[in-house]
Amino acid sequence: MKKVRLRFAPSPTGPLHIGGARSALFNYLYARKYDGDFIVRIEDTDLDRSSRESEENIKDALLWLGIDWNEGIDRGGSVGPYRQTERLETYGKAVERLMETGSAYRCYCSPDELEAMREEQKARSEMPRYDGRCRNLTPEQEDMFQFEGRKPVIRFRVPEGKSIVIDDLVRGRVVFESDGIGDYVIVKSDGIPTYNFAVVVDDHTMEISHVIRGEEHLSNTPRQSMLYDALDWEPPAFAHVSLILGKDRSKMSKRHGSTSVENYRNAGYLPEGLVNFLALLGWSPEGEEEIFSMDELIRLFDLDRVAKNPAVFDLEKLRWINHQHIQRGDLSRLTESAVPYLVEAGFLTAEQADQEADRLEAMMSVIRSGLDALEDVKDRAELFFHSRPLEDPQAREMVSQDYIPDMLRTFLTHLDNGEKLTPGGVKKAFKETMKELDLKGKQVFMPVRIAVTGVMSGPEMHELIPVLGVDEVRRRMEQNLGRTL
Ligand code: GLU
Repeated sequence: MKKVRLRFAPSPTGPLHIGGARSALFNYLYARKYDGDFIVRIEDTDLDRSSRESEENIKDALLWLGIDWNEGIDRGGSVGPYRQTERLETYGKAVERLMETGSAYRCYCSPDELEAMREEQKARSEMPRYDGRCRNLTPEQEDMFQFEGRKPVIRFRVPEGKSIVIDDLVRGRVVFESDGIGDYVIVKSDGIPTYNFAVVVDDHTMEISHVIRGEEHLSNTPRQSMLYDALDWEPPAFAHVSLILGKDRSKMSKRHGSTSVENYRNAGYLPEGLVNFLALLGWSPEGEEEIFSMDELIRLFDLDRVAKNPAVFDLEKLRWINHQHIQRGDLSRLTESAVPYLVEAGFLTAEQADQEADRLEAMMSVIRSGLDALEDVKDRAELFFHSRPLEDPQAREMVSQDYIPDMLRTFLTHLDNGEKLTPGGVKKAFKETMKELDLKGKQVFMPVRIAVTGVMSGPEMHELIPVLGVDEVRRRMEQNLGRTL
């Protein structure tokens, strides 16, 4: 059996988006599952739109997601280079073969002539396609065109009357008729190959066994299949994964929210959360479980459970999955990942975060249950860093009653009993305060909350107070009441 080798072949024309990340992930999972190779190749033949900046963005996003490759850009390998603009020689050889066997020819039509051809076809209600007028040029005609200074493109000679059958691993048997396809350009006039040609040469020379990619490429597949035939090469197995739709069932676009991986990263989605979510965009495991680590996905993933029908991008589901991963994640890593958001919110500086790592962890262990994404710490963590100004008239009134200073003092004494503060210790201090001063719960709980936080809602006091410590609790109480206790 052929060695399992898959690739992700992004065009570096923008940041890595959700659809691309899903393709990368499916290829990665399949390669890892079958102990194969996973290759990253850069398809940068669109010179105007490709940039190194996008390539870097894609690489960063893949690595952040935990999708690493063992061969390709930055990693090397025996069938490189792995950037298409560095492979022109390889394409040149394949073109020569196609020219020799008559499967390709030079076409000298100018853009204006092609445009006129299309207009005429439309006027006759025909499908616009290249009519093959340069198919059989004589050497003299070619010389003439060259003499005129025309720069040719190279077109593939599409065989007539042929059915092209693709046995797609997701979509089943798909048949295309060659007669609907005009002779297409495989090398542009500047000598740069087109996608449909370069992809075939690369997938062949890189010994790719399976191509998993988005359904939008299904219509390219017969063009690629004909090239495999003409070059007498065996094509890889194809698996076209369905489109990703927004909740309104139209193709996922910026209208539906962020489409780039980077945006989700910036909003504080965990890589394992996003990976889990992406895996479920088109694939489903057996059973009810929906939360998986990368290792579990590698074990469970297979193409026979990839659906033909479109996947719907549901942000709520992403939030829920990410929430689950936040609960399961390693606390110190989670805390570290949350620091930039705390710094951005102005709660502390990066240096302070280093010094207070233990306290931050204690805080995170309390607030993680309320987080869907790390950026939510901006709301959830605020009261751990400062009290809000005591502005609400109802709250002010509540803590200006006569018994309050004495009650708070008693509470502080019970908190400060020489033992390490714990949630249980705080609960006990509330009880003892009530008992000692013969007060009811409502005379104690809400006033303490207001004195410590300035507001009437927020985290549980028995969770907040151990993180703050007695001194900070006292300082805040004195500040909010404007008096020493
Ligand atoms: N460069 C193509 C893209 O980014 C790759 C398609 C393929 O996987 O063949 O869509």
